[in-house]
Amino acid sequence: MSDHSFETRAIHVGQEPDPTTGAAVVPIYQTSTYVQDEVTVHKGYEYSRTDNPTRTALQEVLASLEGAAHGLAFASGMAATSTMFSLLKPGEHVVLADDVYGGTYRLLAKVLSEWGVAFDAVDLTDLDAVRKAIRDETRMLWAETPTNPLLKVVDIEAVSAIAHEAGPIRVVVDNTFATPYLQNPIALGADVSMHSTTKYIGGHSDVVGGALCLDDEETYDRLKYLQNAAGAVPGPMDCYLTIRGLKTLAVRMEAHCRNAMKVAEFLFGHPRVTKVHYPGLSDHPGHELAKRQMRDFGGMVSFELASEAEALDVARRTELFFLGESLGGVESLIEHPGRMTHASVAGSPCEVPDTLLRLSVGIEHPDDLIADLEHALA
Ligand code: PLP
Repeated sequence: MSDHSFETRAIHVGQEPDPTTGAAVVPIYQTSTYVQDEVTVHKGYEYSRTDNPTRTALQEVLASLEGAAHGLAFASGMAATSTMFSLLKPGEHVVLADDVYGGTYRLLAKVLSEWGVAFDAVDLTDLDAVRKAIRDETRMLWAETPTNPLLKVVDIEAVSAIAHEAGPIRVVVDNTFATPYLQNPIALGADVSMHSTTKYIGGHSDVVGGALCLDDEETYDRLKYLQNAAGAVPGPMDCYLTIRGLKTLAVRMEAHCRNAMKVAEFLFGHPRVTKVHYPGLSDHPGHELAKRQMRDFGGMVSFELASEAEALDVARRTELFFLGESLGGVESLIEHPGRMTHASVAGSPCEVPDTLLRLSVGIEHPDDLIADLEHALA
């Protein structure tokens, strides 16, 4: 199966017809326990926190799409992040991208720091700053690219090489915005690709989940142990919904990227818009890198207006773009990061401009989306 293309693997890997019934779709194994033939003699499943066949299917297809040996599914993106951070010990240090998802920053700043884990938030597009931020105690470099919400593009190959030369540092890339369809961090030298599967992978705004994909056996064994020991696992229904979403990831991403480019070009030409952040625009500082590193530029577009009041007004006035948090679903969303998704980073190095709006461009007809924005900006 590994020699098949992305689209084919998304539909078939881990999803062989059910051996007992022939069901063409992986069943929702809604069970907490499994009957054993004799004490400890069973069919590979004992208890659903430890393993569940619907979750196994999801983990196998996720790993395949990331080109990784292993995949682990979690109850949310933050559960995946938190399990990854559990590898850190008191006294160790993390180099963090300075505009990561607010929840990732919050977990380090408000929780892990109380357990003696230190971190520095730096602009990972500045490779000298990355070199300077690494200390003897650094054990993890956490990147996000394109970043949320400023859509900066980080050179995964370069930061991975710097980290690996400097010491035993695990490089984790939050690949939520790009998805495995547009970018494969492990092939570029990262150790772990992390996802909030809540977003494009689920794709329909109806399920919350997370994932870690990786090659290294030792790290996998420890994370698999923690997945069971800490227990932040997704239920079988959530795994089923995520698998169903994954089957159409490739076609959805093509449509998201096409629409986002049109929306970005429209905003770029609009007199009230002071700045557009989209790696597909040739004036974006990460445009050339994104062309090398990604298959396309993604479905997220951020833009700025002259004042916060204007930004809040536009967010209130769109109709097709629902005002809401999250991203990556088939429906378009608009939000004000400063007061919504990134409110928890106010006053920190990760603070975002209050004039900024973020769009998750859905797969509706692009003319309708542009007309909606035109009306809201009028
Ligand atoms: N990473 C990114 C880039 C996100 O946008 C989010 C959520 O918005 C997360 C991680 C956290 O994922 P979840 O909400 O599934 O816990």
